[in-house]
Amino acid sequence: MSQTTPKNSSTQNLAKSLVRRAGVRMTRQRRAVLETILNSHDHPTASQIYERTSRGCQGISLATVYNCLETMAGVGLINQLHFNNGPSRYCPNLVPHVHVLDDASNRVLDIHLKPGLRVEDIFDLPEGVQIRSMDACLRGYIPEHCLSPEKKK
Ligand SMILES: [Zn+2]
Repeated sequence: MSQTTPKNSSTQNLAKSLVRRAGVRMTRQRRAVLETILNSHDHPTASQIYERTSRGCQGISLATVYNCLETMAGVGLINQLHFNNGPSRYCPNLVPHVHVLDDASNRVLDIHLKPGLRVEDIFDLPEGVQIRSMDACLRGYIPEHCLSPEKKK
């Protein structure tokens, strides 16, 4: 079962503009890695990103993929996630969200706040606490129908 969709020009243009906006130099490898992540809906690991990227970007090494991921996470183009003791996983969704990790399958699902809700509406924040970003992991079970790309948009 593939978790990627074919490359298309809108993904390539999005990757190009994201890299430019982040102020990092656009290289063939960075664009290829970013396109892979943008086309992946399963929060892939670096190894999975390498495997998928190397299909269309011959000669790229795993070390280069790691460097690209580190650079892009460092400038906020992608999110680097740590679950349990497993390898880092990567998420291109920059809209504030949290993750649900399926205990049994290690699959990950993005969860957004309900429309109109703010973090302050959910958590009992002490006075003066200000939230700049969200990075939370809920654990449980994710039914198959929630993981199709169409459902997640
Ligand atoms: Zn995510």
